[in-house]
Amino acid sequence: MGSGTPYFIPLEEAVEIALKRRLSPDSEEISIDKAFHRTLSEPLSALTNDPPFDNSAMDGFAVKYSESKNPPNNFKISNTIEAGNKFDNSIISGEAARIMTGAPIPKGADSIIPIEACEVDEENQIVTLNQESKPHFIRKKGENFTENEILLKVGTLLTPEKISLCAAMGHNKIKVFKPLKVAIISTGDELRLPGEVLEKGEIYESNTFGLSGLVNWLGHEPVRFSSVVDNLDKLRETLDTAAKTCDVIITSGGVSMGDRDFVRKIMEDEGEIDFWRIKVRPGSPPLFGAWNETPIFGLPGNPVSSHVVFRILCGPWFRAQTSSSQPQESKIIVKLDQDIKTVPGFITLRRIHLYESEGEILATTKHHQGSGNIASIALGEALTLLGPNDTGKKGEYCSALIL
Ligand code: AMP
Ligand code: MG
Repeated sequence: MGSGTPYFIPLEEAVEIALKRRLSPDSEEISIDKAFHRTLSEPLSALTNDPPFDNSAMDGFAVKYSESKNPPNNFKISNTIEAGNKFDNSIISGEAARIMTGAPIPKGADSIIPIEACEVDEENQIVTLNQESKPHFIRKKGENFTENEILLKVGTLLTPEKISLCAAMGHNKIKVFKPLKVAIISTGDELRLPGEVLEKGEIYESNTFGLSGLVNWLGHEPVRFSSVVDNLDKLRETLDTAAKTCDVIITSGGVSMGDRDFVRKIMEDEGEIDFWRIKVRPGSPPLFGAWNETPIFGLPGNPVSSHVVFRILCGPWFRAQTSSSQPQESKIIVKLDQDIKTVPGFITLRRIHLYESEGEILATTKHHQGSGNIASIALGEALTLLGPNDTGKKGEYCSALIL
């Protein structure tokens, strides 16, 4: 594919092409304490019923429902059953067992009356029920899930709620994918690390920091390389190291048509390019292929472009490697409250602010929309997903990706 080819492919096609290069991440067994934000590599089934036994949902008294009809009714208090009680408790006709939330239901009882609806005569150990008892205050064995039921599938990203579910299912060790090691390499003579003093013509390198965050967000392991100057030998050396030590390479900068766009150049001459340039704005110049058989995303250098392209191109690719749909992108429909510049045939991703008016979510741009303006995406709330045929005129509805 020559550098002069004026050809851009649709995003969906690019995603499809990239997905042909698949990795098979290894699996490892980890302690549940380390499970946050990891991705299941095997389906997880319950080792127990939940609840494991019939128990009370209330503090109160366990009685036979038929004996609680036509209140008030008096019962003899048989005993007290607390959560964790290990005995085979039972009641007979005319008895009520004092019971705590989570305690096992005694044989002979089929309902609970909450303590608030009772009068207790402690001296004579008599309880008067002022209401009918409630069968639904018994939490039935297995009503939440049953032993051997598969509750979590491969590709599940373990959120705090799902980790608690794993524990309730009885698991203390969990099989998850090993994170992919992702080399993140910025290129450009002008780049300096934050904290250093800028000389004339220099700017702070910001892309690798944000891209590392995005890789972490997807549950993988970023390996941030020192920025590479615009020099083919230096670039080759860095790409070789990255291919040897990491599973995937992400570069930023140097993929456009200029003479000093060395990532594109070296990939054309010495790497494998599966595609170059996609129909999105900003962020049209990315390339994808392999360097020494290691998949490589060549992202554009402009800070907004590199972020946007990661979200819409790298995101789906990384999720697919672990058969996952998570973390999911949230999209909403917004109504444009101003004209937004579109590029016919391209997906247009402008950084927008959202507000509600008359039951609709309206979108406007606030910050300068240049693809070099990282503040526009950092301080924006969403990205328009204006399609190839959308006009971007005020009043038009379009999908937006929440940032
Ligand atoms: P390039 O694609 O290399 O031509 O870069 C496009 C624009 O993005 C230039 O203005 C670069 O200075 C800027 N740029 C490239 N890489 C980075 C980076 N890592 N951090 C911040 N800006 C960058
Ligand atoms: Mg450059």
